[in-house]
This record gives sequence, structure tokens and C-alpha cells, in this order.
Amino acid sequence: MGLLKTSGIVTKTTKYGDTSLIVTMLTKDFGRISAIASGVRTKKSQMLAGLQLFAYSEIVMYKAKSKKGLYNLNEMTVTESFSSLRYDLEKMAYASYFAEAASGASAEDAPDEDILRLLLNTLYALDKELCEYEKIKTVFEWRLAAEAGYAPLLTECGKCGKHEETAYLSLANGTALCEECGNGAEGMVKLSLAMAKIIKFICLADIKKIFSFETGQATVGYLSRVSEEYLKSQLDRQFPTLDYLKKVKALEEGNEK
Ligand SMILES: [Zn+2]
Repeated sequence: MGLLKTSGIVTKTTKYGDTSLIVTMLTKDFGRISAIASGVRTKKSQMLAGLQLFAYSEIVMYKAKSKKGLYNLNEMTVTESFSSLRYDLEKMAYASYFAEAASGASAEDAPDEDILRLLLNTLYALDKELCEYEKIKTVFEWRLAAEAGYAPLLTECGKCGKHEETAYLSLANGTALCEECGNGAEGMVKLSLAMAKIIKFICLADIKKIFSFETGQATVGYLSRVSEEYLKSQLDRQFPTLDYLKKVKALEEGNEK
């Protein structure tokens, strides 16, 4: 039995049998994995802290022969618990969506350290409330699209090749059109020059600096609506957690009135 060491974030947990848990994790060395934590629901397991949703831990595990390729968890030492994400309904809804989207953009048993780091930095920003939640969301979505290989091509017009300001973005193929070529074209969303600059910054900036730009709330709101449509279109999938997030946001907005 060869022990494997890595680090990772719990993105989903499911009860298994009477006493065990199956956890989906995004890990540094093995990408997205499913692992079983045997017997942890009956006794005071030392692994319980690490098995909480969104916790980031150092992990020791081995590959089980019998259980359909599942890993078996031996030890988990929590590095970051991100505890506020589990006790605040709105943060929980954002974090669940980020975890599902990052997991959806990752392949099983194929490491992608950049996506893991993006998820970590995003959860950290949300946990510490580094900026408004919608800003965290749109930054995460653009950067995830970029890390998954779908950064929008905003430096030139996809039709005439002009290297000036691109004004429209295609949600379907990620290309941009200039004002002249894009006006009236189908399936394009309008972007101001400032928005295009922000998107380029998010896609290319050092991962530690992705949240460090200033813009108004209206721009953030618009970019966030575009980025979620863009990500869904590029990854070609729906996210149930995004629908849940919208319900929670509607509730929170209702409470504020
Ligand atoms: Zn053009």
C-alpha cells in the first residue's frame, strides 16, 4: 500500500453507508478526486475538521483496490478552514458555486495547480471579505475561463483584425468584434473599453493580484452577468449552485428592503 501525499480543498461531501463519507476534492497533485473517509461519522475522528466543506488540508491517502478507484483518506491536517464560509448563508452560496465551477473545469486525476490556486485565493477573498462578493465572482469566472483555456480574445477584431478597442464579445466562441463589425451582429454582448481592459487584466495578472483593480459597482454588476454567461457557454454546462446562489441573493436583497 503506497501512501500518497498532497494538499487539497473539499468541494463536496456525501454520506456513504452508516459511518463513512465520500468527499470530492480538488488536489494539487491529482486534480479532482473522489475519496472515502471510512468510519468518520461514528467516532471522534481526527479527520473531521479536514472533511468540512471548503477546508484546505494536507492529505495522506492511498488508492483502494476494491472500491471503484476511490482513494482512501488516512490523515488530514487543516491548513485553512475558511470557517466563515460555512456559517454565512450568502458566503456559503458563493463558495459552493466557486467550488462546483472549479471542480467542473478540472479533470479527474489530472493535476491543475492553477485552478486549485485560483479557487484557494477566491475562497480566501470571500472568507476575509477583501472586496464585494460580485467582484470576487466575476474575477473568479473570467480567470477560471482563462485557466481552462478559454480566455476571450480581446486584443483585435475577429473580423477585420483591427487592433483598436474591441467593443463586442461573442459568448459562444470568445472572439471580439470592433464597433463597426459588431454593431447589430448576433450573439454578441457589448463591452466598454474599460471593461475589456479589466477582463484582460483578470485573465493575465499574477494570481495574487487578480482582485486589485478599482471600478464602480455598476460595472462589476454588468461584468458579473457577462462572465457567468461566458463561463457556462465556454464550459458548456449548467451549475445548479449558481441557481441556488441567485435564490439566496434574491432573499438577501428582499431582507434589505
Ligand atoms: Zn472589425
